[in-house]
Amino acid sequence: MLRRAPARPDDVTASAPPAADPQTVTTALPGQPSAQPADDPFCLNTRPGQGPERCEFTAKQQQTVGFERYAAASLTSQALTNLSRGDPYLTTLAKRVFHAANPDMSQIRSTTSQILDNLRSKPVVCGTCADEDCYTAGVVAHVTDDLSTIVLCQRFFQTSIGEMRRTLVHEAGHAAGVGSGGPPPEMYCAEGSTGCVDPCSNLSGDLSQNVDAWARFIECAAQSG
Ligand SMILES: [Zn+2]
Repeated sequence: MLRRAPARPDDVTASAPPAADPQTVTTALPGQPSAQPADDPFCLNTRPGQGPERCEFTAKQQQTVGFERYAAASLTSQALTNLSRGDPYLTTLAKRVFHAANPDMSQIRSTTSQILDNLRSKPVVCGTCADEDCYTAGVVAHVTDDLSTIVLCQRFFQTSIGEMRRTLVHEAGHAAGVGSGGPPPEMYCAEGSTGCVDPCSNLSGDLSQNVDAWARFIECAAQSG
């Protein structure tokens, strides 16, 4: 269910409110082998539940989060503008991305609007390796159980600018309730597919509740103006 870097896994954790503690979760565990694979060493010598789950972003990380959040909101805002024009291409795009025969464009506009609201207003906090999801190899971000908060793990900052933007749209989609009722594991659109003809061709079935498909739809809808 959880992938390496360009993944946005989200098995959600019951999270404590953001703590002001700095990230100091590096306690060694003598004799306790780490579950972290060698190629994903972020949480070596730590384990979930040990120490604070939240950290403070460094000044540089805070700047990156601000920039990426703005980029994600701008993208989603452009997608919403294009959707509101009623261009039939957007219906075609929705059919292609969501594999839906008859997409409900009014519902799609409403969800896109919710995602935009989330990008502008949801708290985005720093997750340590004590956070069970951030501890999991490959996880870059997740939303809390109550959908109130987007948690960025340290791996987030190792991904590209485009991947960070996509991750924020993806998590804002979860916060809007997309895919929250679906059965695990969450499926992701193939990372290599960049076009808008069928960006989630690796997945089958209706993808209207697949939040990764939503991130692709918003990227493609924003380009369509
Ligand atoms: Zn997800």
